[in-house]
Amino acid sequence: MERSERRAAVLTVLTPVVAVLFAGWHFWGHGLSMLDVILGVIMYSITMLGITVGYHRLFTHRSFQCVTPIRMALCIAGSMAAQGPVLFWTACHRRHHQCSDAVGDPHSPHLHGAGAKGVFVGCLHAHVGWMFYHKPENYIRRVPDLIRDRKLMALNRYYPWLVAAGVVLPGLVALAITRQWYAAGTAMLWAGGVRLFLAHHTTWSINSICHLFGDSPYATGDQSRNNGVCAVLTFGEGWHNNHHAFPTSARHGLQWWQVDASYWLIRAMSAVGLAWDVRLPSAAQLESRTVVGSAEA
Ligand SMILES: [Zn+2]
Ligand SMILES: [Zn+2]
Repeated sequence: MERSERRAAVLTVLTPVVAVLFAGWHFWGHGLSMLDVILGVIMYSITMLGITVGYHRLFTHRSFQCVTPIRMALCIAGSMAAQGPVLFWTACHRRHHQCSDAVGDPHSPHLHGAGAKGVFVGCLHAHVGWMFYHKPENYIRRVPDLIRDRKLMALNRYYPWLVAAGVVLPGLVALAITRQWYAAGTAMLWAGGVRLFLAHHTTWSINSICHLFGDSPYATGDQSRNNGVCAVLTFGEGWHNNHHAFPTSARHGLQWWQVDASYWLIRAMSAVGLAWDVRLPSAAQLESRTVVGSAEA
């Protein structure tokens, strides 16, 4: 692993932690304004959908197609989540599907020994540790489709600026609304730094928790699980066993009660003609992968 990549991993993981510690100290004396909460929720939603709908379902799995402005907007929103440039994220996630919970999986929690210690170390590795030991990806082999997209490559290059924009933007909105620099500062702290921390750890819980705790209604040959709490927090990504069973499906919450806000957005875009070729598993495919005796059969 290159030193620059390791430095980027340290910055990615630790900067939001510093923001949370500072926000906690600041909260003690000053509380939290309603504007910061609203901006935080909006920025969390935009950047999370950038990851789930953009980075994951569109760029990694090509589970739907959409118009170029939406494609670019999703890439910008995903970049603002500070989980790596789109090429890195996509290549890494395609490798995860190719060797799920086997040698070569960049972030499996199951390859770190037996017993409670093995589970603990594995969980830590799957959550954040993997970023510090990540082997360089072969982008030409893993993501040739994305490399051909010149606009996407430009956004990939501007990634650090997009991350910064995601922090500055709520500050500018707060400044425009209140005309106070102080409000701009607290908005950047809560809707920038703290929001990054929350979106990081909910997303990374898919790698750790959703390969350890939950149900597996579909036979996938790996340890992927459906976890409802993770699903709500990540706008549908927590239906991870469903996703490993049908990786190209735009819909992860396959049962009516499995909330999947990311799919709702894809459906809404499809309804107004902004998205098309929305891929879903057929009834026969669903039947063929269902574990015998599963409650969801
Ligand atoms: Zn997985
Ligand atoms: Zn996936």
